[in-house]
Amino acid sequence: MASPTDARYQPQAIEAKWQAAWQEASCFTARRDPDRPKYYVLEMFPYPSGRIHMGHVRNYTMGDVVARYKMAQGFSVLHPMGWDAFGMPAENAAMASGGHPKDWTYGNIADMRAQMQPLGLSIDWSREFATCDPEYYGQQQAMFIDMLEAGLVYRKNAVVNWDPVDMTVLANEQVIDGKGWRSGAEVERRELTQWFFRISEYSEELLAALDGLKEWPEKVRLMQRNWIGQSRGLQFAFSTMDAPEGFDRIEVYTTRPDTLLGASFVAVSPDHPLAKHLERHDPQVADFVTDCRRIGTTEEALEKAEKRGHDTGIRVRHPFENDWELPVYIANFILMDYGTGAIFGCPAHDQRDLDFARKYGLPHPDVFVALEDETPVTDTAFVPPKTDKVRYIRGFAGDAVQTGLEAVEAAIAFCESRGVGHGVTQYRLRDWGLSRQRYWGCPIPVVHCDTCGVVPERKENLPIALPYDEDGTPIDFSVPGNPLDRHPSWRDCACPKCGAPARR
Ligand SMILES: [Zn+2]
Repeated sequence: MASPTDARYQPQAIEAKWQAAWQEASCFTARRDPDRPKYYVLEMFPYPSGRIHMGHVRNYTMGDVVARYKMAQGFSVLHPMGWDAFGMPAENAAMASGGHPKDWTYGNIADMRAQMQPLGLSIDWSREFATCDPEYYGQQQAMFIDMLEAGLVYRKNAVVNWDPVDMTVLANEQVIDGKGWRSGAEVERRELTQWFFRISEYSEELLAALDGLKEWPEKVRLMQRNWIGQSRGLQFAFSTMDAPEGFDRIEVYTTRPDTLLGASFVAVSPDHPLAKHLERHDPQVADFVTDCRRIGTTEEALEKAEKRGHDTGIRVRHPFENDWELPVYIANFILMDYGTGAIFGCPAHDQRDLDFARKYGLPHPDVFVALEDETPVTDTAFVPPKTDKVRYIRGFAGDAVQTGLEAVEAAIAFCESRGVGHGVTQYRLRDWGLSRQRYWGCPIPVVHCDTCGVVPERKENLPIALPYDEDGTPIDFSVPGNPLDRHPSWRDCACPKCGAPARR
């Protein structure tokens, strides 16, 4: 009989013994076995920062339990491990230490593997890979080309966060209080050509599929639903007065057409075509929009920033009252890539609009009031849930008691019947932009040719691997900007279509 002391778990002895035995027997090596049902366990890949932390231990222990349970049930289990190995930190570490991101990354992977393996997880290490392995990202490149050819990847100009010191595009998370997380430089908003995945094409499908996720917590499904953000609204145009040629209409999308009779101003984004046109001709506008571009591009950054506007002097006509004119402002809180980049403000029922109206001395007529309290709005906008009944005093149906939802539908029907715009279902979900201005990431497998334009690489040429130092051109990470731009033997290539000199 073992004594209680002997029976205690002694990891150094028992783990070493059994891990060696599992290794010997290749217990966790996945094998094709047509007689057994297959089961695939995949946790998210760790980022190779250099150290395993307890979050990793927790995560991979859960996967381990599932994999072992399924093995015990007779499944043929595949439980591999990989590393999510591309990204800026490797490049920044290389810039700081004078090394190469590849060495930093693979060195960290080796350290982390050495920390992870003694945990005795049921992982098939023979299938380990890193996302920076060319064999892996060559597959990504093939998928990218398939998606490009299917019209699911495209290029367009987009406003991005630009770090003028690091000369790079920053993700929203990398902008802290308007400054680059690494350089501390004031981040600018710049328009650059970017690649996008057309995920918005799937908004409706994604939303409908949430109903099928029966076992997911309701709060997760709600978050997803809000992220996709379906809304019903009215798209219409204001006609302008005294506007430059080509700007006789300003298109607006609103989810609150029921408040149109409480409109007090129109505001456009600093990136709206009208603002850009004025910027070129009016130094005051140019100063103002330059200032606006110093705030980040996130909704959060815009939310926090002081609300400011510049009166363009242009006026629009209210669609339902010919002698009712509204001023057109350029405002720092309007995003170009949501809706049409232009709004009308109804201050009585939107706090942001009310703050703006009070700052610039604009009126704020009430559209509806609470059933039991008809005090007009002064400092605080009246914004009840759309499902609450309120009394409309400037609605489309006269003195009506309605919910916001009913009033929105009634407003859309009324406006459509008068030829003022049409009802539209919109989604908040935007296409997914990817920025590849730097070195340590999967090269986008297209070539830019003066004659043919953007040409996908031939699949037989994949992977388009990142250049290392082997071909004699050293990669210098100490200079800001994109090292790929300074690597002519990689950058310059032949067009896959016409054979003329082209650029990656
Ligand atoms: Zn060509």
